[in-house]
Amino acid sequence: MNEPPFVDRPVLVLYTGGTLGMVPSAEGLAPGGDIEARVRHALAGLPPSRQARLPRFTLRSVDVPIDSSAANPSDWQRLGGLIAESVREYSGVVVLHGTDTLSWTASSLAYQLQGLDRPVVVTGAMQPLEAEGSDALDNIELALRYAAKPELQEVTVAFAGRLLRGVRTRKTHSEADDAFASPNYPVLGERIDDDVILYPGRGLETQQRGAPRFELPDYSALADGGVVRFVLWPGVQAWQLDAWLGDTRVRGALLEVWGGGNVPPDPELIGVLARASGEGKLIAAISQCPIGGVAPGHYAAGQGLLQANVLSGDTMTPEAAMTKLVHLLAQPLDDQERRRRFLTPLIGER
Ligand code: ASP
Repeated sequence: MNEPPFVDRPVLVLYTGGTLGMVPSAEGLAPGGDIEARVRHALAGLPPSRQARLPRFTLRSVDVPIDSSAANPSDWQRLGGLIAESVREYSGVVVLHGTDTLSWTASSLAYQLQGLDRPVVVTGAMQPLEAEGSDALDNIELALRYAAKPELQEVTVAFAGRLLRGVRTRKTHSEADDAFASPNYPVLGERIDDDVILYPGRGLETQQRGAPRFELPDYSALADGGVVRFVLWPGVQAWQLDAWLGDTRVRGALLEVWGGGNVPPDPELIGVLARASGEGKLIAAISQCPIGGVAPGHYAAGQGLLQANVLSGDTMTPEAAMTKLVHLLAQPLDDQERRRRFLTPLIGER
């Protein structure tokens, strides 16, 4: 393969906030300033052989770095736009992000940056850069190394020595350094000693080859709760579901159902779903189980979902399914096309 013409360009590092760059304040940890000097200072402490393997980079910070618990779809859109407008000047992009909603942003970026022809690597840290024993430096180093690999052409998450497909990730631990997993997809790569490797046969080649065809729809109309997430529990009532689905501001919903795709045998509940679908709301179902997918209709208890025209989310994570609903609803598509695209794997999310 000929080297792509952009490999000699620097990597762009975008700092959006999160624990990685936080410093203590009177109210607890909060985003700190001077991030470029702090990151460069930390990297300068690596052994020379590891420093020599790092790509050149330019670091930019968003205007107001945040704790990622404050992020909403408009933030995903702003970040997607920023990357789309500058990515051609760089060999790859690293996004430094808070871990709490990192998987949501990575999933959303994957839909927005379809056809990406170079790496976008999202990372963060469980401990601030300057904290003793922090994971931040290792994660930044890992992300920079992967962001310089031209054969990687998708949105990924680099964390705790591993590379994961962005749209397949979840934050699965609230304390451990190894806080991310991709429950229904194998890891794309790993750090082994001083090498960062990509595994063959993980769909890297089929992912996103060809000319970028970014889709950057306006998410602002959906940022105020236009897509909701409803997790079933034993005893759930139709009126409770209706309180959300019946609201005209709600245009899409993710339903987290039992096991392989089952719901309570309550005709009223199915009626609420069917009415909402009939009104053109985009409703999808995934499993509450952390691993595995849904195949509604396998059990009689799943027939209601089929009758109500609820879409199968297959093995998608909640993050991948919700951000896909937002992405599809933000575009001027008719109902049939939205449903078709939801059921089609767009970027390896299902
Ligand atoms: N609350 C922080 C954030 O998501 C947590 C972290 O970065 O680890 O911004």
